[in-house]
Amino acid sequence: MTRAVRIMMNILSLKKKFTDVLFLDRFSQSCFLFGLVGIATFGILFAIPYMYNDFSEKVVLFARAFGVFLAFQMLINWFCMKFVDNGYNPDRDGTMPDGIQMGQNISRIPVADSKQTSRNNRRSQSDLNTLNKRNVGSVMYVASELPKTAEEQPKRTTYPYFSWTPCLRCNRPRPPRCHHCPQCNVCVLKRDHHCHFAGACIGYKNLRHFSVFLFWASVATVFSTLHAVPYYYYHVIQNTSFFDLIFPVAIARSALGYISWKNAFFIVLSWILVTFLYWATSFLQIVVDLIRLGKTTFERDHKMELTDKRCLSDKLRSVYGNYWILNFIIPLHFVFEPIDDPLNWPYIKA
Ligand SMILES: [Zn+2]
Ligand SMILES: [Zn+2]
Repeated sequence: MTRAVRIMMNILSLKKKFTDVLFLDRFSQSCFLFGLVGIATFGILFAIPYMYNDFSEKVVLFARAFGVFLAFQMLINWFCMKFVDNGYNPDRDGTMPDGIQMGQNISRIPVADSKQTSRNNRRSQSDLNTLNKRNVGSVMYVASELPKTAEEQPKRTTYPYFSWTPCLRCNRPRPPRCHHCPQCNVCVLKRDHHCHFAGACIGYKNLRHFSVFLFWASVATVFSTLHAVPYYYYHVIQNTSFFDLIFPVAIARSALGYISWKNAFFIVLSWILVTFLYWATSFLQIVVDLIRLGKTTFERDHKMELTDKRCLSDKLRSVYGNYWILNFIIPLHFVFEPIDDPLNWPYIKA
């Protein structure tokens, strides 16, 4: 086997590893922890005293304290996102109410008159025909049973979105808006998405930590960018050419000795900073929108016409519990639980 083939094989296996979600989870979490701890330590120990050189000691102390506060908020909410038990537990959360059938729509959802409808119709026409026409546009949930013999076709049953449906993995009914996560291998109440950076699902119980994390992450990235811009202007741009600002060029030119490793390091760091600034602020905007509308990412992506009839303060209570603003100082999930009914969703209407 030649060397080039061996290198190709290595790259391919790396690609395979990256498509493996468990590996992706661990990789993203390690990157996050190393990145946060590294950047916070660097900022608090070196960057802040350097930037506030001309100011009094009190200003330096205040800026450092603010940096510690930001890092603490991000870390604590990250741990909460990861370790707050998000799974649907029938013994704790309740089971399917009497008088309700599996697959019975418990809310009146109008037909979403979009391309999605025709796509769904094509996908499993026979299943859809058996359902109430009113729900066609919002039928999203397909339960698949794997065939037992080679000749058998997979058995698929389609249910209205807003109904109790069977989870074939957990082998029990699950409430509307509750989805099984293949990575976490549990059914998650009001599942929003699986977050690789936390290695956990975001749902009914930890959406509050996710949103608070994003808020402080946005503040932290804006705070860092405001400090990085003057340094960039006075130290980096003066000593480098325009093309050095593209980070692979900077790395290559610093390896060849044309620019200092410090400048190359700072150029790479600023690219990371800009990426995180973009991620944090755009995700924060999405989450604020979802809380305002009372929807999940899944429902937004599938253009479901769900309406949460409550006012904004009740919607905030349904995510944070009472005194929602206090969550931005300290996690309070163990004191103020979300005020909502995660099994029946009585306030969600057509
Ligand atoms: Zn499940
Ligand atoms: Zn998950």
